[in-house]
Amino acid sequence: MSGLATVGYRCPVCRGALAEAPSEFACANGHHFDRAREGYVNLLPGGRLKGRSSGDDEAMVRSRRAVFDAGLYDPIIDAVAETAAPLFDDAGPRAVVDCGCGEGSYLARLCDLAGADGWGIDVSKPAVRAAARRHRFQHHAVASSYSLPFDDRSFDVAVSVFSPRPHAEMFRVLRPDGAAIVVRPGPDHLAELKAIIYTDPRRHRDSAELDDDEGWPNPVSTRAVQFELDLAEPELRTALLEMTPFWWSAGEVQRTLVAEQAVRVTADMRIAVFRAEA
Ligand SMILES: [Zn+2]
Repeated sequence: MSGLATVGYRCPVCRGALAEAPSEFACANGHHFDRAREGYVNLLPGGRLKGRSSGDDEAMVRSRRAVFDAGLYDPIIDAVAETAAPLFDDAGPRAVVDCGCGEGSYLARLCDLAGADGWGIDVSKPAVRAAARRHRFQHHAVASSYSLPFDDRSFDVAVSVFSPRPHAEMFRVLRPDGAAIVVRPGPDHLAELKAIIYTDPRRHRDSAELDDDEGWPNPVSTRAVQFELDLAEPELRTALLEMTPFWWSAGEVQRTLVAEQAVRVTADMRIAVFRAEA
């Protein structure tokens, strides 16, 4: 596939192409976006989203990083990279977008394995800052998955890991032969945490399971990834809780119980691969 333009950002105000300069991105209509010291750019108009949370805060990002740096999520981070690597077109430039990249671990591992150019967006500025600071070979922007700051048909692969997954928008930025990878929790995911926090854990569903399923066809493949999180240190138990939505449901008593008791926690996730429907 020769003749493909390389990926670039487009202006969130007028949708024109953004030209890249050392300190900023600018479109032909005079809209400017400063590049942060860490290398990322904030492409959320007005810097925030109407009616939606602005994503993970500093503490959640720190907790997620602590859990990932301890290697606890390596089985799923590796599995996503292994799922993605064969999906790239061998003939052309390889480009992947992570819709809700968080602190960047999934995208970085995937790019390392697939030899791909990585573009990560997230509504959380602390998450994007952490991603950009560590993963300098990927491109990071504060932006929404509901309005991806890219041209149509830019990517081979679009990924959404425990994040919003607007089908039409993800497939808009995929090439016609591109693939989307969606990772979501399985029924037993973090069951031991749920058992501590909810009196009737079966009634609880992850918020990520409730949204954004509109328009998704049947996957071309699915894979279950199940492993045990061995939380030897109480600090990691608290960090695991804090990186999940359960944190907000947990009172002081439950947070203490998790720190004392959540020594082994089940991780149960589903990786699904989707293609554009012919
Ligand atoms: Zn513009």
